[in-house]
Amino acid sequence: MKSKARINGSEITEDEIRPEYDFTAQIRPKSFDEFVGQDKVKDNLRVFISSSKKLGESLDHILFTGPPGLGKTTLANIISSAIGAGIVTTSGPVIEKPGDLAGMLTKLKKDEILFIDEIHRIPKVVEEFLYSAMEEYRLDIMIDQGPAARSIPIKLEKFTLIGATTRQGLLSSPMLDRFGINCHLDYYNTDHLISIVKRSAGIMNIEITDEGAAEIARRSRATPRIANRLLRRTRDFAIVKGNGKIDNEIADYALTSLDVDEYGLDKVDKRILETIIMKYSGGPVGLSTIAASTGEDPGTIEDVYEPFLLIEGFIKRTPKGREATDLAYRHLGLTRRSNKNETESLFG
Ligand code: ADP
Repeated sequence: MKSKARINGSEITEDEIRPEYDFTAQIRPKSFDEFVGQDKVKDNLRVFISSSKKLGESLDHILFTGPPGLGKTTLANIISSAIGAGIVTTSGPVIEKPGDLAGMLTKLKKDEILFIDEIHRIPKVVEEFLYSAMEEYRLDIMIDQGPAARSIPIKLEKFTLIGATTRQGLLSSPMLDRFGINCHLDYYNTDHLISIVKRSAGIMNIEITDEGAAEIARRSRATPRIANRLLRRTRDFAIVKGNGKIDNEIADYALTSLDVDEYGLDKVDKRILETIIMKYSGGPVGLSTIAASTGEDPGTIEDVYEPFLLIEGFIKRTPKGREATDLAYRHLGLTRRSNKNETESLFG
């Protein structure tokens, strides 16, 4: 017999308590129509897909760039369904040697997709093999060593490479040149995030008011992955502290308990701003110094935290380093003491 639990007074079976990873798979949009926002990217991709179908050619290689959680992996999977071809997913750091890449490429059938996440982290030796694979659908594998060393060409099927990166600047120019299509994903506006939150709530059977969805959307760092995560966590608060329904009151309570402020800044964002302001008099200060002072990885600061702080106007980049803006001071309740080179709290 299936075990049962009670949530908000209603009995639910084991089957209905689905693990989190299951939700992640369920809420991931499966088609361009379900994918909210990024209209220009979607329109362009639709054109390239239908043109490749009409011409009977395989789709050109595609590069997706942009901060994490904006939908790069999701779009790669949507493209695979749209062209009706399989997709093999891997990630830059996993492909350690040319043999790893050869193993994947030689198994691909015509038109199939190789999706490489974090493509900027592919080792240099592997990258060079990728050039001929992308351009000529050929791999030159070296066998033997010393005087007997020779290269054997292996013919590949016409596949499509989809690369995703949070750091376009770290890709070499020969690599960049080999992508026929380059799509940059932007942060989402609040209306699009509201649609994403409502769509996910619908799939997860969560009752949510318009105001509740707007509260979560506004505090999601303009990022769908964060919006979905905050929705799940807010649901937990709604179940335990409320009646199961998410309205703006429970959303505010939950997000405040999770240390997400009204701008969507979390503890790490605040630590970064406080470091620049309190330890370095508002900057300019270099990224590695900020990383060392906050105990965060410099790459994570650059990929995850800095882009949002920049776009929201909390910091600015100058040739000498990062500087805190007036908005950052106001937001933290601090006042800039330009003449004395020190900062004091507005409240004490
Ligand atoms: P990335 O590869 O850029 O890090 P993902 O494609 O993994 O991001 O997206 C993160 C999550 O956010 C996905 O699970 C998906 O459910 C959701 N998501 C991303 N973009 C959208 C969108 N445009 N519409 C709806 N949900 C989205």
